[in-house]
Amino acid sequence: MTSNEQNATPDLVIVGAGLFGLTIAQQAVEKLGVNVTIIDIRDHIGGNAYSYMDPETGAEIHKYGAHLFHTSNQRVWDYVNRFTKFTNYVHRVYATHNGEVFPLPINLGTINQFFRANYTPAQAKALIDEQAGELAGTDPASLNDQGISLIGRPLYEAFIKNYTAKQWQTDPSELPASIIKRLPVRFNYNNRYFKDTWEGLPADGYTAWLERMIDDPRITVQLETDFFDETQPLNKKALMAAGVPIVYTGPVDRYFDYDLGELKWRTVDFKEVRYDEGDHFGCAVMNFSDSDVPYTRAIEFKNFNPERADLQNPNKTVVWEEYSRFADRDDEPYYPINTEEDKALYAQYKAKAEAEPNVVFGGRLGTYAYYDMDQVLNQALVSYEKQVEPLLKK
Ligand code: FAD
Repeated sequence: MTSNEQNATPDLVIVGAGLFGLTIAQQAVEKLGVNVTIIDIRDHIGGNAYSYMDPETGAEIHKYGAHLFHTSNQRVWDYVNRFTKFTNYVHRVYATHNGEVFPLPINLGTINQFFRANYTPAQAKALIDEQAGELAGTDPASLNDQGISLIGRPLYEAFIKNYTAKQWQTDPSELPASIIKRLPVRFNYNNRYFKDTWEGLPADGYTAWLERMIDDPRITVQLETDFFDETQPLNKKALMAAGVPIVYTGPVDRYFDYDLGELKWRTVDFKEVRYDEGDHFGCAVMNFSDSDVPYTRAIEFKNFNPERADLQNPNKTVVWEEYSRFADRDDEPYYPINTEEDKALYAQYKAKAEAEPNVVFGGRLGTYAYYDMDQVLNQALVSYEKQVEPLLKK
């Protein structure tokens, strides 16, 4: 286990015990044998990938929303397999629309069920192309028009329109077309959600995986420690004055005290519902495509780990309903909104971050971006080589 005692003078302080910070810590110790202290404002490591076991049901709950590991990056796959085995879970998503359950992403099964037909791939493609031609010759003015132009009005209105409205709390006719670049439609019955070479869930849970990454006496973790709290010694002002190298994975605008303005995010509220039955949905993720259900989707965590059935309660299950909304400053920032205004603002913060001596910014919050876990792991491995190691060798 990681020592909880504070290193007297760490060679490197990492702000944030998420995947980015843990990877940098692991690499710095392995490559240079330095002493590293990781601080995190939360009371656990793992950042948004953290999970815990629910004693009543035996489900592994992903505290910050469902996390499925998937990658086609050989380097990342080799790296994560040093710390955990993966189950053979294959992600599939279903959607409830108009009292019926359909497979997603939209595929030939969805199309044939929806149109009560038995189209071949070529017939289905011809139909979707024809329906998508409704607005031919016009430039999509809104997300609504964009959706119709990509997959035709019937499928767009059934599976995308209301779901997107719930995600953004805004009518899609008032959202920019740029939010949706493509809507995949598969003209076969493949409803495997991810197309990556490898996917699965960490065999003994996310937290066990992430703890193993930093299982070294030269790595110290201090939880419930805010980098901006000047009453604790590892704060921004004190560390900058002492010239200690820092890797910062918190929000980039917060680092600069929001002096140029705030970057905008969406957040998700989770409502936990418990059922006195072993399995409520029969799948891990059920989307709700209609406006009469106020949440976007529901996660039934037990169904991520069917291999643990013997350890799970056969008579109880737990479901989290997800409600999406714009984030306030005190909310968990989840998805960058990334309007043109946000992008321009981030470009200014990025320039400031690059000019900051002795500090490397990284991770989703430090670079204002949505990354999947494999992308953030890759970003951290590259950042260690290109930025952090040269800083430590200075
Ligand atoms: P984080 O995990 O956010 O870690 C940053 C850490 O910094 C946090 O622990 C935070 O507490 C800490 N911190 C911030 N400010 C301070 C401060 N002032 N002082 C001290 N500590 C501070 N990826 C997938 O591959 N598959 C998925 O299925 C998937 N699902 C997702 C679902 C949701 C709802 C979300 C939001 C993300 C999902 N992701 C998924 C993405 C995944 O969560 C990220 O790739 C990953 O967590 C990013 O790691 P990070 O280290 O950059 O950031």
